[in-house]
Amino acid sequence: MEVDGMKEIFQRSVPQRNAIYIKYIGNGDTKPFPELQRTAPYSIEKVECVGHIQKRMGATLRNIKTMHRGKKLSDGKSISGKNRLTDKFIDTITTYYGNAIRQNNSSVSDMRQAIWAIYCHYRSTDEEPMHHFCPIGDNSWCKYLKAVATNSASLFKHKNIVPIAIMDEIKPIIAELSAPKLLKKCVRGKTQNANESFNSTVWNYCPKTSVGHLKIL
Ligand SMILES: [Zn+2]
Repeated sequence: MEVDGMKEIFQRSVPQRNAIYIKYIGNGDTKPFPELQRTAPYSIEKVECVGHIQKRMGATLRNIKTMHRGKKLSDGKSISGKNRLTDKFIDTITTYYGNAIRQNNSSVSDMRQAIWAIYCHYRSTDEEPMHHFCPIGDNSWCKYLKAVATNSASLFKHKNIVPIAIMDEIKPIIAELSAPKLLKKCVRGKTQNANESFNSTVWNYCPKTSVGHLKIL
């Protein structure tokens, strides 16, 4: 049904609206676009909704937590529990991941670097600081580089270290969700938020449970 609706929108755009819709904002569902490409009267470019890509990070991290339930990681401990892959840590990574895309939305390489900065920052220890992708200067969110900027790095101690075994588990997810092919679709970071709020407003005025609301619509 959704694909049929989209097909109709593209097919009538020129004859009825005298407009060409050059971009299509996806919601992570891979099915409709190939069908649209095949049937649209002109070529269209797919861009991904940043909000949906961000949600994918959260969902994938929660998935591996479920997948590893009852199993031991490389350090002999389980994936969940205190100071492990907690829901709070998943939410933090997910929020920072979305911000990394939005704040660098003109360049795939900047987005990629900002995403890996999050990973490397959390993987850093006193023995092996990995802050090379973190923003430099005394305004940086990275406390280590802030300490470097004020010549006090030798006194800096890494707190709240997430165990390496956990970081090893999430590395492939970071790699997958920072792939240039995916990030390319996030350039100029669009979202479907406006569409979704319009959609829910329409349904509020014209609920599915009653009929005859065309006039109200
Ligand atoms: Zn850092």
